[in-house]
Amino acid sequence: MSTIRTNLQAVQGHIAEAAQSASRSPDTVCLLAVSKTCPAQTVIEAARAGQHAFGENYEQEAIRKMQQIREMAPDLRLEWHFIGPIQSNKTRGIATHFDWVHTIDRERIARRLSEQRPETLPPLNVCLQVNISNEDSKSGIDEKGLFELAKTVSNLPRLKLRGLMAIPEPEDEPEKQHEPFRRLKNLYNQMRKAGYDLDTLSMGMTADMDAAIAEGATIVRIGTAIFGARN
Ligand SMILES: *Cc1c(COP(=O)(O)O)cnc(C)c1O
Repeated sequence: MSTIRTNLQAVQGHIAEAAQSASRSPDTVCLLAVSKTCPAQTVIEAARAGQHAFGENYEQEAIRKMQQIREMAPDLRLEWHFIGPIQSNKTRGIATHFDWVHTIDRERIARRLSEQRPETLPPLNVCLQVNISNEDSKSGIDEKGLFELAKTVSNLPRLKLRGLMAIPEPEDEPEKQHEPFRRLKNLYNQMRKAGYDLDTLSMGMTADMDAAIAEGATIVRIGTAIFGARN
């Protein structure tokens, strides 16, 4: 059995355990395989092992990889999620080639993605990225601006607002990993109360997926545990 298949099964088992410990059904947590820096062949291997959704951070790398995969494995129908920072000059590529975008943190980018989403495709599923650890350097909208951005995005015709995403500051102590995820979940609940029809909390990576699942993640974004360390 290939390493990737073994790793995928281990991660799925891990997700199921974390969900059960939190009294959640394992099928409420989706695994997004983060394939940035992995070659097309590796993505195909993961897809052949049953993985459907893939996350990419760099527009050019991702689009080239999608093209290679179409040539190498035309039967595969994969779901692509953009999870990296977005520059304005990349919005057209992202709007054209992806099914989801997790990293919307400003109005200008949201408007461009909506305008550039091809009419032949369904609306682009989007999450708003929240700067949950309040770091100056990190991307993400701060909590104060979140509701205004949500209002704008939910009115854009070619975007479908699905939920929230965050990348908390790395924290080694598992106990301390919960707090930012809990805050994101609270914001999510507040927005649902305010009438936003959300179903997605994108939070948790290889090092903190247990805490994220305990706090309600519906998508965990996992790279290293599936594909190994990136260099
Ligand atoms: C790279 C990346 C991941 C995956 O991180 P791992 O620690 O390798 O699981 C998840 N989310 C985002 C936004 C990333 O950039």
